[in-house]
Amino acid sequence: MNDFDVVILGGGSGGYACALRSAQLGLSVALIEQDKLGGTCLHRGCIPTKALLHAGEIAENTKHAAEFGVNAQFISMDMLAVNAYKDGVIAKLYKGLQGLVKSRNITYIEGHGKLVSKNQVEVNGVIYTGKNVVLATGSYPRTLPGLEIDGKQIVTSQEAMSFDYVPKSAIVLGGGVIGCEFASVWSSFGADVTIIEGLPRLVALEDESSSKQLERAFRKRGIKFETGIKFQSATKGPDGVTVTLENGATHTADVLLVAVGRGPVTANIGYEEQGLTMDRGYLIVDNKCRTNVPGIWAVGDIIPTLQLAHVGFAEGILVAEEIAGLNPRPINYDGVPRVTYSDPEVASVGLTTAAAKERGYDVVETTYDLAGNGKAHILKTSGSIKLVAAKNGPVLGIHMVGARVGELLAEAQLIYNWEAEASDVAPLIHAHPTLSEAMGEAHMALAGKPLHAHG
Ligand SMILES: Cc1cc2nc3c(=O)[nH]c(=O)nc-3n(C[C@H](O)[C@H](O)[C@H](O)COP(=O)(O)OP(=O)(O)OC[C@H]3O[C@@H](n4cnc5c(N)ncnc54)[C@H](O)[C@@H]3O)c2cc1C
Repeated sequence: MNDFDVVILGGGSGGYACALRSAQLGLSVALIEQDKLGGTCLHRGCIPTKALLHAGEIAENTKHAAEFGVNAQFISMDMLAVNAYKDGVIAKLYKGLQGLVKSRNITYIEGHGKLVSKNQVEVNGVIYTGKNVVLATGSYPRTLPGLEIDGKQIVTSQEAMSFDYVPKSAIVLGGGVIGCEFASVWSSFGADVTIIEGLPRLVALEDESSSKQLERAFRKRGIKFETGIKFQSATKGPDGVTVTLENGATHTADVLLVAVGRGPVTANIGYEEQGLTMDRGYLIVDNKCRTNVPGIWAVGDIIPTLQLAHVGFAEGILVAEEIAGLNPRPINYDGVPRVTYSDPEVASVGLTTAAAKERGYDVVETTYDLAGNGKAHILKTSGSIKLVAAKNGPVLGIHMVGARVGELLAEAQLIYNWEAEASDVAPLIHAHPTLSEAMGEAHMALAGKPLHAHG
């Protein structure tokens, strides 16, 4: 009765994708979730933050409406209405996902699960046995020693995304993706924002040129930031939260958002007891997401790959197909598209210039400035597309900054993942006037036949 081909612990992006694909392949599946199907991405991550960012974009458009000849006035944000819009989006997707899981005949089990043997998970005293067990328990927001999250003044992304007011001022600790997205949203909503980042630049995993452009754009928007400086302490007082940095400088604001990364949820659920190999809490897997214990697999944020929903989907599908005997190709993590959905957006796929050089490539590169693109002028956005390529070889990396450049990743990732050379892409015709033309122009320039480009 409670025996399955696949028992999956955790119903977030990684877990539910594995469940859907396994069921599609004719395997019997149990999916165990203690909270809500859809996990972080749907309820506390990708979807709610992007809804907030879209509300922020509308606020910015309203503030700048006169530049386009539209008479409109930005008065203030109605956060109850913003949250209703955001929650409405989540509710629709949640309902759709629940229907999808039901329609595939997946046995959905609500409750807290614990791995109690190499092929068994216990939920509310009931044992579910799987020929295969897939662990997909996700991640939680980290904090720093001595920094206590109170959920009101000192918060993580989880609380911040449901604020029913716009803070007058905010300090964002961490200039990675989540930190920059919240800084962007709150600034659009009218808050005075300061980012503190210990690394030398914002979005430090991106190509250095992208960080520079984002920093320039944030400066222009009035978003302040300090980089290359470590946090020391935070104290709460009548004026808000005061953050002291290692150089003695202080910043005070209504709220402090702690966005210093996410840790894997792997403690106290039986993983250590079953002898699973871990490193700093992450489960260690091979290129097919197999743990060291035969029959146990791990996907998503609990393994040390990029913490992205689409990576979770891909790993979940990979495991399902491997279990079904399809022998799928391992994931090339360099080919995963990455976006920071701030204003402006930062998007990339493939290697940075520094990484390409480290791997021994003889690198050539070109940067196409969006100033040469008609649609960018229509949108009044600035930025660029930078290509990193091997000399006389394929494109190794594409790095973009500007409004809506995340949408250009569809083409960028095909170019990277199909190992196209600039001369393969240069003859492809891009519709005019679109931002995608800039992708064509960048490749034309790299192929030695620039059109709308100086020099
Ligand atoms: C603010 C924010 C914004 C983000 N934005 C983006 C974005 O724009 N794009 C993007 O690609 N990614 C984004 N991410 C990352 C993305 O949300 C995660 O990479 C993704 O959700 C990971 O999926 P997962 O399945 O590994 O884990 P999760 O989605 O965290 O799911 C794990 C699930 O397991 C359940 N669980 C845990 N332990 C147990 C247990 N013992 N028993 C039963 N159930 C259990 C949890 O309740 C949870 O539902 C964002 C994350 C955050 C926090």
